[in-house]
Amino acid sequence: LPTHEEVVDTETLGRATWTFLHTLAASYPAAPSAAEAARMARFLRDFAALYPCAPCASSFRRILDRLPPDVRGGGALPAWMCAAHNAVNAELHKPLFDCATVGRRWGVCEACTASAPALAQFQSM
Ligand code: FAD
Repeated sequence: LPTHEEVVDTETLGRATWTFLHTLAASYPAAPSAAEAARMARFLRDFAALYPCAPCASSFRRILDRLPPDVRGGGALPAWMCAAHNAVNAELHKPLFDCATVGRRWGVCEACTASAPALAQFQSM
């Protein structure tokens, strides 16, 4: 049996997932191609269908309906992600985050870009 520390709860899953989602948004191109924009829009739709916390996923789908992802580039995606996270914060009665500081909180993961060769094979898919 897993020990207490190994059990994943909604909070642990949520914090890890927001780290991933904000880092993903921060590394989205400023000028995405049509294929990149379509892929991101598809990923966010699929993410909201598959997120492994059923009540969280269904509330996030409602948020996406109300606030469609902005995949046009030019810094719009980090701002959108911040607004979407704030919509979740509001539902959970948590304080809202100041989205003007989102770039400072969630910069691009510098060490991550070192493994770019592993990404190359996916970029052609
Ligand atoms: P988190 O909300 O996890 O945030 C982590 C860090 O992100 C914060 O410490 C802060 O530095 C930063 N941050 C906070 N707000 C923003 C923002 N707007 N923009 C940028 N950065 C920000 N839990 C539920 O109980 N019910 C749900 O329905 C639910 N839905 C979820 C849906 C999704 C898609 C995700 C990813 C998580 C969901 N969660 C839900 C989990 C919840 O959002 C939190 O992750 C969890 O409660 C832990 O909260 P936290 O206070 O540690 O900070």
